[in-house]
Amino acid sequence: MALMEVVHYGDPILRKKCKPVEDYKKLSGLIDDMFDTMYEENGIGLAANQVGVDLNLFIIDISDIEEEGESIHVFINGEIIESSGESWFEEGCLSIPDIRLDVKRPETITFKYQDESGHEHTKEISGLLARAIQHEVDHLNGVFIVDRVTSTTKMTVDKTLKAIKKDALSKVKYRKAFVL
Ligand SMILES: [Zn+2]
Repeated sequence: MALMEVVHYGDPILRKKCKPVEDYKKLSGLIDDMFDTMYEENGIGLAANQVGVDLNLFIIDISDIEEEGESIHVFINGEIIESSGESWFEEGCLSIPDIRLDVKRPETITFKYQDESGHEHTKEISGLLARAIQHEVDHLNGVFIVDRVTSTTKMTVDKTLKAIKKDALSKVKYRKAFVL
C-alpha cells in the first residue's frame, strides 16, 4: 500500500487538460496507489491529476452508497459524447477540503472510455455514477465545482478558497525546490 499526496485547488496541475494514456502496461501500480489514497481520504472518486499525475485516468468507488451493480471503476481516456436531463446534487471535492456546493449537471450521459487493458467501451449512465464521472472528467479538463456555480455562490466560499490556494501554492514551491 502506498499513499499519494492529494494536491489542492491552486496547484497548477489541476488547471491543465491531462494527457491521454498511451502506455497501459505501467498503470496498475498507479491505479492501486490511487485506490489506497482515495480510501484513506474517504473519497468516492479520484482523478490522476489530483495526485499530481498528468494522465487522463480516474477511479470511482460508489459501493458504500449504491449496493446494486458494478460499483468500482477505472476509466481511462474518457469522453462524454452525449448528455441529457438535469439534476442538482451537493458535491464535495478532495482537492477543495471543507467546501460543499450544489452543482447542476446533466442526469444521463453517454460515456466512451477505455479500461485498464485499453479496450474501448461506450455506455449510457445515469444517477450517482454519472454525477461522479462528470466531476472527475471536469478535473481532467482543469475544471472545479467552484467553476460550475454562479459567481454569487462562489463568493460565499471565496475566503476558504483563497486560503486553500495559498497553501497549495506554497507546497508547489516546496516540491519544485525538492526536485532540484
Ligand atoms: Zn474533485
